[in-house]
Amino acid sequence: MKQTKSHIFNKQRWKIDLNADLPEVCDEEYCGITDHKKKTIKINRRGHTAKELMGSEIHEALHAIYPYLAEDAISRGEKELASWLWKRGYRLMQKES
Ligand SMILES: [Zn+2]
Repeated sequence: MKQTKSHIFNKQRWKIDLNADLPEVCDEEYCGITDHKKKTIKINRRGHTAKELMGSEIHEALHAIYPYLAEDAISRGEKELASWLWKRGYRLMQKES
């Protein structure tokens, strides 16, 4: 599977790094950062399950789409969407390199 390195959110191209080294923000649950000035999403997927990665990708995408929403609204959207999509069976087909 081709690794997604960019995506259009809000009519702007965002760079996406799924192998970022983010020791300053990564703990057991949260593992990503959205930079609105640089239009960059960075996620450290190492050591995280596929379900956690899905949550992190949804979380950072919601930040890019809705820059005015507070963290608690983004987190709620992440948890509800990840739970629903996981229950529906959505998964990465193969691990991206
Ligand atoms: Zn956040």
